[in-house]
Amino acid sequence: MNVLVINCGSSSLKFQVIDSVSEKCLAKGLCERIGIEGSMISYTPDGGEKEKKEIPMPDHTKAISLVLEALTNEKTGVIKDLSEIGAVGHRIVHGGEKFANSTLINDEVLEAIKECNDLAPLHNPANLIGINACRELMPNTPMVAVFDTAFHQSIPAKAYMYGLPVSLYEKYKIRRYGFHGTSHSYVSHRCAELMGKNYDDVKMIVCHLGNGASVSAIKGGKCVDTSMGLTPLEGLIMGTRSGDIDPAIIEFLAHKENLSIDEVMTILNKKSGVLGLSNGVSSDFRDIEDGYRAGDKYMTLAMEAFCYRVAKYVGAYVASLNGVDAIAFTAGIGENAPIVRSLVCEYLGYLGVELNEENNNKRGLDIEISKPGCKTKVFVIPTNEELAIARETVSLVK
Ligand code: ADP
Repeated sequence: MNVLVINCGSSSLKFQVIDSVSEKCLAKGLCERIGIEGSMISYTPDGGEKEKKEIPMPDHTKAISLVLEALTNEKTGVIKDLSEIGAVGHRIVHGGEKFANSTLINDEVLEAIKECNDLAPLHNPANLIGINACRELMPNTPMVAVFDTAFHQSIPAKAYMYGLPVSLYEKYKIRRYGFHGTSHSYVSHRCAELMGKNYDDVKMIVCHLGNGASVSAIKGGKCVDTSMGLTPLEGLIMGTRSGDIDPAIIEFLAHKENLSIDEVMTILNKKSGVLGLSNGVSSDFRDIEDGYRAGDKYMTLAMEAFCYRVAKYVGAYVASLNGVDAIAFTAGIGENAPIVRSLVCEYLGYLGVELNEENNNKRGLDIEISKPGCKTKVFVIPTNEELAIARETVSLVK
């Protein structure tokens, strides 16, 4: 079956068509600046050239109709007509406490997703717009919602509750939810597979290090803790997000700089992280790495603080798992920056971690980067959230 995977943001829409039998991506692309002047669609069929063109997209329905046109184009399309799309899988950011699993989309599910909008006001409404646009154009095609938060719903209350009045949880559902769940699930399953072990029998820590970054701890076949919280702001130092800070800094800053809460939040979400630590130079790890190698003071600070925070979370999760069998690195930085893996692993001598530098410098492979025989194994596992969404989708529509 061909599955169309949609990841819809407020002004962008990423798509892939995946053949569920071969698990190959047949085509992929991106619509940008939807509803804004200068909208663009890019489209790449498997083995073909990338095409990019500017074309007006006043709304998401128009964007999806252009995606469907590209997919069925006589010359560069990968399907003859829309009947060749067996199902659509939608990435949904927040499923709150309602969704611990992916689900087939119907009117009731749409209502329940809408009820989670408060928890992700920037993302969920955009995800819903994507679903509605697809339903309009493909009313008879089954659709599945795959939630970023679902994998973390197994986290026990002692780990998801904040030390706040419990009434705030009861009233507003303020708690840890965690994100990147599809990636943490995909990578941890692949990690157990590479170890030749039963998923339920391995203690794993997954470090998803991209522009957004999070760590999760998996034991007994379940996620038991993760570093992102009510929102993706908590935890690691990220590209532009601060990660963990003393919450009193918010009040301190608001008073000292005469800022509103929204302005302080913009600093924490958009101007902090390695961008902030590098003194505003870059949120891109390729630049951080170059600056670190050149001995730049701020870039070195950004690199060291980033890696230290990752190592600190790994340590915390080793404690909560009471040991660890494997640590896996994934996402843009986790997959592509050997220096980050190396600096993080320098802290992990107490776990018996020793890196195989030759493997650590390889790219694009599922690979063990610890030396043979290490007590704790370390892997690099490229994530594939689209494939994971396609698999979930097929399992629910079959
Ligand atoms: P997101 O999906 O959260 O936007 P990604 O997983 O795509 O993020 O990761 C983006 C990050 O990966 C950026 O900080 C980028 O600099 C980093 N990255 C990508 N390629 C490399 C590379 N070759 N070396 C170091 N960092 C890289």
